[in-house]
Amino acid sequence: MWSFRDWRRKRILARLAIEPSLWQHVLESLPILDGLSDEETERLRDRSLLFLHAKRLTALPGVELELADRLRLAAQAQLPLLHLPDLDWYQGFHEIVIYPDDFHSPQKHRDAAGVEHEWDAEHSGEAWLQGPVILALPGVRESGGWEGYNLVIHELAHKLDMLNGDANGLPPLHREMRIEQWASAMQRAYDGLNAVLDADPDAHTAIDPYAAENPAEFFAVTSEYFFSAPDVLSSELPDVYDQLKHFYRQDPAARLKHLQDSHPAYAEPG
Ligand SMILES: [Zn+2]
Repeated sequence: MWSFRDWRRKRILARLAIEPSLWQHVLESLPILDGLSDEETERLRDRSLLFLHAKRLTALPGVELELADRLRLAAQAQLPLLHLPDLDWYQGFHEIVIYPDDFHSPQKHRDAAGVEHEWDAEHSGEAWLQGPVILALPGVRESGGWEGYNLVIHELAHKLDMLNGDANGLPPLHREMRIEQWASAMQRAYDGLNAVLDADPDAHTAIDPYAAENPAEFFAVTSEYFFSAPDVLSSELPDVYDQLKHFYRQDPAARLKHLQDSHPAYAEPG
């Protein structure tokens, strides 16, 4: 059936067409995209171009963004959505602001006794409810490998979480998913991580202890691991991995395993 939306997208894509060699360069510079099929990388390219068309990427003074940098950022933003229905998952914000360095941001917290605490926190990224996504350049540059760190995916996971209100670790689940199963898998893993850190704040944990801050950070950090260290997440927190697999409709651990089994560059992990 003819659709105005598809027609418009095709026109935009025709106008935005990029050199195949540039897209190839983007793919090669982001190991977390290794092992995607040709059909997947083509869809990722189109959605990345549409993403850059729809969102304003603002580089603050001190930040130079080449087209390749913009495409790299867009490709990481679109990876989590690759197998989700083509809806406007990143609605409600129009701008991504890139800071040259980590930034200070005033924080406020009212404790149980009603006392308001304020402090300055060093941040590499933030996602405001109904507001822009802010990313610091060093973190953007460090993202893209299989090291369990991805600032872009982390902040955009907060945006997915915010689709149904405040960031609380519960994004809008698909019809076939069960909130109780999601909640119990996430809660058990979150409580487990907090118990380890309560017993020893310096404990070495398999996933970044920042995940223990609150349920929203738990979802953002585990989403980061899901795409950038899926082997760690699936072996350490299999129930969480399973819920994220249903939510993102991808299986990056299987993709990574296949690379390790078949790709010379992956033969020696680490
Ligand atoms: Zn966060």
